[in-house]
Amino acid sequence: MKNENCIFCKIANGEIPSKTLYEDEEFRVILDLGPATKGHALILPKNHFANLYELPDETAAKVMRLAKKMAGTMTEKLGCDGFNLVQNNGECAGQTVFHFHMHLIPRYEGDGQKIGWKPGEPTQEELEEIRKQIL
Ligand code: AMP
Ligand code: ZN
Repeated sequence: MKNENCIFCKIANGEIPSKTLYEDEEFRVILDLGPATKGHALILPKNHFANLYELPDETAAKVMRLAKKMAGTMTEKLGCDGFNLVQNNGECAGQTVFHFHMHLIPRYEGDGQKIGWKPGEPTQEELEEIRKQIL
């Protein structure tokens, strides 16, 4: 399940070299070329899934286990003060490469990065409407 036009398929499967931190049969973890912070890395499945919606449940579970393991190792080795897991789906959500990936972002006191959103101020009624819509 590879996509010939997908750069992350090529990187994950070793056809394009990368700074690899970890590799097994199903995944490769690489350093991001445009890092938010020192050590910013990406978990790439070797098979092509465009996004979270396409990811099989079993692969999704393995991604989270691997993220936890990498966060532990990276925190120990880099001495970071915190850690963000970020995963974008769709252009409007900031996805730029359409092969599923999980960002591993070590955070350092005073690193000046902002990963967040402007909080809204919904009423209780609005929250209830949304809750009903999702149920
Ligand atoms: P996203 O915006 O969630 O799709 O994230 C794409 C990420 O991939 C960005 O953080 C880019 O810096 C990173 N990226 C793009 N091309 C490469 C590449 N060839 N090697 C490593 N990271 C890359
Ligand atoms: Zn791909």
